[in-house]
Amino acid sequence: MALEMLLKRLGLSTVERVLPQMLPLAEKQQWSYSQLLECLLSEEVAHRSETRVNNHIARAKFPFEATIETFDFTFRSDLKRQMLGRFLGPELVSDNRSLILEGPPGTGKTHLCISIAYKAIQNGFMARFTTAAALINELKVAGDLNGALKPYVQPHVLIIDEMGYLGYGSGAADVLFQVVDQRYLKGKPILFTTNKALKHWGRVLHDEELARAIIDRTLHHGEYLKLDGPSYRLKGRTLDLETGTPKSNKEAAKQLTDDKEVSDQ
Ligand code: ADP
Ligand code: MG
Repeated sequence: MALEMLLKRLGLSTVERVLPQMLPLAEKQQWSYSQLLECLLSEEVAHRSETRVNNHIARAKFPFEATIETFDFTFRSDLKRQMLGRFLGPELVSDNRSLILEGPPGTGKTHLCISIAYKAIQNGFMARFTTAAALINELKVAGDLNGALKPYVQPHVLIIDEMGYLGYGSGAADVLFQVVDQRYLKGKPILFTTNKALKHWGRVLHDEELARAIIDRTLHHGEYLKLDGPSYRLKGRTLDLETGTPKSNKEAAKQLTDDKEVSDQ
């Protein structure tokens, strides 16, 4: 059939796929020509956009899938969805809105950064996830630094996760500064997560001045948000650091009473 050939030639594979079911439906329901055309092309566009989003999510290398819709704001009473609104639209990229999310483990920092990058992908941008340790280790040993920087400078949005979880050896500040500076010059945002207060970044990176320059560039158009409170991973439980077992708060309270009874005896 000539139509099939033409659709193939134009790469309209979704139109080709849905046409056999849609034609009889259009006849039965007496759609106008323009209605049928619109329906077919909408299917093509929707499918292409889904494929693009899926490809870009795979290329972003997120460690897990997370969206703002699955983030439980009732658990995080210190954080309102409105506070994140400015990072969830296209202004994230057009206004170079970087973010530094600080907080203890399990407060949802990584989840939130992935959610922001996920929205950016849905908004037509490209994103990339990395950890500070992986980024620094890769760049420190790169023979061709400019080539190695490319995957971290090109995407519209870059997540640098877990800044400060490890002590980085010498040279860490230099390579991290390269990433931050090149992105800053191109007006591209970075989303950092960290467990360390900004004043300690100098110690983590063994270079107070470069750490300051990194923070200065990131916060020029960006924001610093501090999360606090219990870990979502332990939700309503307390971690017993002696045995490594999480206990419910009730159990923890009982344990305290038992311990007290034992010591009272
Ligand atoms: P952090 O990076 O602060 O250590 P994560 O973002 O890795 O914490 O969160 C730990 C786990 O708990 C993840 O699986 C994440 O999806 C989930 N999580 C954390 N906070 C929330 C929340 N408020 N609502 C839903 N899931 C959450
Ligand atoms: Mg994390």
